[in-house]
Amino acid sequence: MTPGSEHLTESDLDVALRRLLRAGERGDPAAFLAEHDRVAAALAARTDEAWTAWRHVLDARRGLLLADPEATATALTAAHAALDSCLPTARTALTLAHLAHVEATADRVDAAMLLAIDASLLTEHQPGEPTRDLHEAHRWLSLTLAALDLEELAVAQALTGSREAQALPDEEDRWRLLQLCAQQQAELSQTLHRRGETGRSRELATAAVTCAEGARALDVEPDPADGDLLDVVQAWAIAGQGDVAGALGPMRRAHRRISGDGGVWLRGYADLALARVLTRLDRSQAGGGHAAEATDLLVDAAGAFAATADRRRYRQCLLELGQGTAAMGRPAEALHWLEAYRADSGRAHARGRELWADMFVRRSRLREAERQTAVLRRHALEDPLTGLGNRRSAERRLGGLRLGEEPLSLAVVDIDRFKAVNDDTSHSHGDAVLRRVADLLREHSRAEDEVYRWAGDEFLVVLPTATESQALVAVERLRAAVADADWGDLQLPEPVTVSIGVATAPAPDGQPAGWRSLFDAADLHLFSAKRGGRNRVRAPGGRTDPEGAA
Ligand code: GH3
Ligand code: MG
Repeated sequence: MTPGSEHLTESDLDVALRRLLRAGERGDPAAFLAEHDRVAAALAARTDEAWTAWRHVLDARRGLLLADPEATATALTAAHAALDSCLPTARTALTLAHLAHVEATADRVDAAMLLAIDASLLTEHQPGEPTRDLHEAHRWLSLTLAALDLEELAVAQALTGSREAQALPDEEDRWRLLQLCAQQQAELSQTLHRRGETGRSRELATAAVTCAEGARALDVEPDPADGDLLDVVQAWAIAGQGDVAGALGPMRRAHRRISGDGGVWLRGYADLALARVLTRLDRSQAGGGHAAEATDLLVDAAGAFAATADRRRYRQCLLELGQGTAAMGRPAEALHWLEAYRADSGRAHARGRELWADMFVRRSRLREAERQTAVLRRHALEDPLTGLGNRRSAERRLGGLRLGEEPLSLAVVDIDRFKAVNDDTSHSHGDAVLRRVADLLREHSRAEDEVYRWAGDEFLVVLPTATESQALVAVERLRAAVADADWGDLQLPEPVTVSIGVATAPAPDGQPAGWRSLFDAADLHLFSAKRGGRNRVRAPGGRTDPEGAA
């Protein structure tokens, strides 16, 4: 630990966090542990939920890298508990997605899937512009889903994350997401190829090449390991498109470079990709003679993935070794690999995974349907120009009122000579005036009052519990707010004013009345305010006129 590291600022911690996430992603224990040692005290000094959750998540990752199951389990439990009290932000989605990845790496499929679902729901409901946390959350979800062998979902998350990253200014973020899209699509392409779905496999390979080229077109100097990984992925995708011979040269070059100075995981990845290209080449040419080299590469790759706790790719290597040696006519060897594969994949429950995949999609769809309904409901009741409730929602509200017990006032507000605004300036000036009047009415009405756009330039204010004299005071404030507002920026020929008619239930004669007759009474007084010279308020028992007016 560096002395004084407990005084790291929020943004120092943020930078350290990104570094830790990247080291964890690459299964790079040395880099992760060094950085973790450096910031552990600073993390421990933070008491807020968000950082507490991160602290436990990172402890769990550390436990995994040190192959310490007890420490991992304790940290995982603490992380779940801390996350329960985190706010539903994009940052929390990222924490959940990362924890899901730790769980998946620990081969706890069910826990990983539950967290992935929660994280994905949170990412779908973030208001406002995309953020770095949000696309990072998609990135980690994609990595998690891939680790769970849910490759189609992994591709979808990568593409969503990439779309979000495009909206952000940082080219490096875009680069990383494009790289991830290329990688996930290349991997799915390989799986589809294995299943014999040649057409889709090639489509995905092409999409992967496009993403890789997109990343290269950016003005980014990636870190060497990232650049190498992209080279491998692109060469592999070119093979996936069918140009196996053309892919071999670039693949061998990348492989050579990585064998020289790449990290363990990356070396394994390059071995695996080269082995796959060689296997394809072998099958496409009579007597290709690459099978033995491919086998050696797969053995090395399996060792690298075992060392970096990438169980999924370790299993893939075992399976491909079994298939490859069987094809080479060495059944005893094939049996050995396939048995190792079966022993290891027993833990990963293919059937359970299918159920989870189904649930992931279904829950996301359900939430989407819910969201759509909410949008429709809002459209049905909200005026899109001003954001106020529309006439339908006003009528619904009025229909639900119980008139006669407590007093209640209605005010009908109409903009004066509004047609002239449209005619003398433009319709969009007219719209701007409507929006601003709406804002002023909302801003200056009492907390319990409700403002609706009734029609055109006419607004309705419902004042529950207001007697006539209280209503007069309240709406006079509205009138004055519009008249006194600064309209200079719109360069209108005349300042904007409103006239207001008020009516109150119960009527002075005590007669019970429905809301329609109450509305008509207010409308009548509005008419009287217009005739009286506009920019004024009229009610059966009172009036307010602007200062200086007759
Ligand atoms: P008065 O003082 O008597 O109310 O005169 P006025 O010109 O305001 O007359 P009126 O209230 O009848 O005019 C309403 C105008 O509002 C007519 C219509 O063209 C315009 N309008 C209605 N809806 C919209 C809208 O959404 N945007 C714009 N820009 N204008 C609208
Ligand atoms: Mg008007």
